[in-house]
Amino acid sequence: MSLITIDSLVKGRNVHPDEAPRIVALWDEIRQLKRERNAFIPAHNYQAAEVQAVADYCGDSFELAVKSRAIASEYVVFCGVRFMAEGCHTLAPERPVYLPSLDALCSLAEVDEDDVLERQEFLRALGRDFSTMTYVNTYASVKALSDSCCTSSNAATIAARLGKRDILFVPDQNLAYQVAIKTKRMYLPPPDPNAFHPKEYRALIDPLIREGERQGLSGCVFAWEGACHVHHEMSERDIHVLRAQDPEAVIIVHGEVRPELQRLADAVLSTSQMVKYVEAHPEKKRFAVLTECGLIVRMELEHPDRQFYKTCRLCQYMKATTLENLLETLRDRPAERLITVPEEVRVGAARAMLRMIELAS
Ligand code: SF4
Repeated sequence: MSLITIDSLVKGRNVHPDEAPRIVALWDEIRQLKRERNAFIPAHNYQAAEVQAVADYCGDSFELAVKSRAIASEYVVFCGVRFMAEGCHTLAPERPVYLPSLDALCSLAEVDEDDVLERQEFLRALGRDFSTMTYVNTYASVKALSDSCCTSSNAATIAARLGKRDILFVPDQNLAYQVAIKTKRMYLPPPDPNAFHPKEYRALIDPLIREGERQGLSGCVFAWEGACHVHHEMSERDIHVLRAQDPEAVIIVHGEVRPELQRLADAVLSTSQMVKYVEAHPEKKRFAVLTECGLIVRMELEHPDRQFYKTCRLCQYMKATTLENLLETLRDRPAERLITVPEEVRVGAARAMLRMIELAS
């Protein structure tokens, strides 16, 4: 049961008072339809607050896929972005999964499978003993090329348990840094994002590999050249300004921010860990949470006794879901919004996702 009410949305200035009757009417219609049709509505932590309010469950992408798999329902209307709906279909293909907006994509997930195959070949030619890990923020076709998936909360655990010296980490270069630090491996920065030139890349990584060996590190993390534009644009200045303004505020960042910010923060957490952190520390009153705004708005509504600095950024893909297209999808189940992947791809992606579940537990 969501703690978000129309009064709290209006009071928090997330909704204009004139808009309140329209939102309440949409909520009522969605809730009634959901019951009648036995549908399940998961919503990502970054969705708009009025969408999260009407969801059956809010969480990070992996929690949502696992939850959707466990809940018996006729169909799923996934309030998130496409790779998440794919993940939900991958784990439970017998249940139809719909995405309310086909504009709900992701800048981070845009990775070409051929580029991954080329990089794997390059590392094999170097004689590296490596596993390929894909962050869940990838499409099924890329997941299928990996040994295991991971989330931002379990990435280091999975990397430690895969049993290989090196990790090719696709696609988030900043989360790759977290994995390297936590597993005592050498972080190898990504190559030029526009074109992979093996010679130039070797000139970049060879001295770092030698340095890692000199330090006795347990291996290397080869970072891919991807980043989430929402988190990657956050700057160290954001944190310096906050520290100067309020030295007592707790600064929490997502693992998708740049390494410089990760080093300056009080904690580096996944979205679900951020929610738990705030709940577990009632004595802390002021927070700056550097991630997408949907989570911060919800935290403000759920914890009116705390103060949250507005350091967040909006993801336009996450905000492509609206109450209107959610209702339309729930009611009409448009064929073009049904999310599927070819079966041979789904099987490969499911193997990588299930390996993550096995290794993380
Ligand atoms: S916040 Fe970043 S990773 Fe998440 S959907 Fe938006 S672009 Fe993708």
